[in-house]
Amino acid sequence: MIKMNIKGVCFDCDGVLIDTISSWRIIHEHFGTDSGEMLDRFLRGEVTDAEFMADDIGLWKSVQTRIHRDDLIRCYQGVKLMNGARELIDELQNRGILVAIVSAGVDLLIGSIAQMLKVDDWISNGFQYDEDGYLMDDGIVRVPAHHKDSMVEKFARINGLKPSEIVSVGDNHTDLSMCIPGSHFVGFNGQKQVAIDGFSKAGVPHVQEKDCRLLWPHFFQGEPFPTIGGE
Ligand SMILES: [Mg+2]
Repeated sequence: MIKMNIKGVCFDCDGVLIDTISSWRIIHEHFGTDSGEMLDRFLRGEVTDAEFMADDIGLWKSVQTRIHRDDLIRCYQGVKLMNGARELIDELQNRGILVAIVSAGVDLLIGSIAQMLKVDDWISNGFQYDEDGYLMDDGIVRVPAHHKDSMVEKFARINGLKPSEIVSVGDNHTDLSMCIPGSHFVGFNGQKQVAIDGFSKAGVPHVQEKDCRLLWPHFFQGEPFPTIGGE
């Protein structure tokens, strides 16, 4: 285990802090749509984030012409926090460690999770609405899914942290882009083979059990999570 002196943790959100596969997919499920081929092309880097988002929005609008912000918020009602997410974040913050969410997911969901978990900072992608609250055709890209590094760099800069003091956590191979040079990364709940292979190829630890508290020993040199067995 690499010795780390962690002062900041950047979490991916979908599949890490919440028990979801994708905040985009949840909306697709609601409308009965599927990004299918476009998702494969996006994962291969053939389509930009903006193109991919506009395509998704177009699919939803082909089912329902006018989509209100409230319709989208309702899609997220059943979303659950990942086991141990709240405990892990509380304990990190108790130790004075800064916690941020860097997500390429949907701001409607990620923002509410950020608020619920009281993280220090968060950023994600999102939508635009007209003055009556109806969804516009183009999304807003703040976190390119394959280039999450710029937001981790910004987090380091704003908070005066060295890369070696930062660890990022993600469930997808694209999250490896959060690992800025000199920083650390821990894979969590990798489901797709490409993620599992990506983590092993990158030589990073991978917590496969869906309990955020199991990340603790990777942050603090084998130390068990403070409350495990104490409840
Ligand atoms: Mg994820």
